[in-house]
Amino acid sequence: MAKKKSKYKQRIPTVDAVLWEEHGDDDSVGTFSESPWADDECSVCGRHWSEHGRLEEPGNPVADVQAVCPGSYLFDHHGFMSVLPAEQFEAMYEGGT
Ligand SMILES: [Zn+2]
Repeated sequence: MAKKKSKYKQRIPTVDAVLWEEHGDDDSVGTFSESPWADDECSVCGRHWSEHGRLEEPGNPVADVQAVCPGSYLFDHHGFMSVLPAEQFEAMYEGGT
């Protein structure tokens, strides 16, 4: 027998977020420019790794180091930074004013 549907609501109604497009957009984001593979292309967005942000946050349950593809939102999630592609983020959140 099929399960009965229940109501779910988003746990965090508002988040502090920034659209990260290039180096300098957020002070907490570093760079992969020193990496030996800085000129390689990212398998997700196809841009060079040197154009990506490097978000280092020891203890973050997602990962200690997260790569930020240009065009991703950074947002605070339970005290740690999360990264989502703009399309996904904008499907979940609206605003930005
Ligand atoms: Zn990428």
